[in-house]
Amino acid sequence: MAASGAQIGVLAIQGDFEAHVRALEHAGARGVPVRREKDLDGLAGLILPGGESTTIAKGLDRLGLYAPIEAFAQSGRPVFGTCAGTVLLASEVENHPVRSLGLLDATALRNAYGTQVDSFAAEADAGAFAGLRCVFIRAPRLRDLGPGVEVLAEVEGWPVLVREGQLLAATFHPELTDDGRVHRLFLELVQD
Ligand code: GLN
Repeated sequence: MAASGAQIGVLAIQGDFEAHVRALEHAGARGVPVRREKDLDGLAGLILPGGESTTIAKGLDRLGLYAPIEAFAQSGRPVFGTCAGTVLLASEVENHPVRSLGLLDATALRNAYGTQVDSFAAEADAGAFAGLRCVFIRAPRLRDLGPGVEVLAEVEGWPVLVREGQLLAATFHPELTDDGRVHRLFLELVQD
């Protein structure tokens, strides 16, 4: 199996990191919780989970993890953000901005679906992942994508899964469905 046994870090400050560990295990990799810099040693990739980006950002600051994660990504190892993790990857954050890592050339608009619709599921209607069921929970929207950002799935004309080199970012929660395609794609990036 692709990337079999690869060790993938999952940032475990707050949010649904355990669901990512399970999704990685289903896809044939090992998920390792990351809470301090030395946890990054020996990892082939890193997932920034969904949760509350303000809380996760405070934890990144308190634990001194901004620079180590930036260096991890700059070393060419793949990083995958989901929902709050995507907010943290973006170069710009709007609507109560949080300090982000600034790795993904895009603006993330937090809580973009507002109170009008807090949580919902929808099928991706365009892109290589058309038909994928996407679960959104107080999700951000991505806009102002840089020229190197490829859209892999869209819902209602908005990019919901994008790739920029070794970065993958979803505004939804692929770890909450049984469809393992997105985690498998991430493991393919890890293997390349
Ligand atoms: N609204 C949250 C934030 O901006 C993200 C929600 C989620 O990760 N499900 O931090």
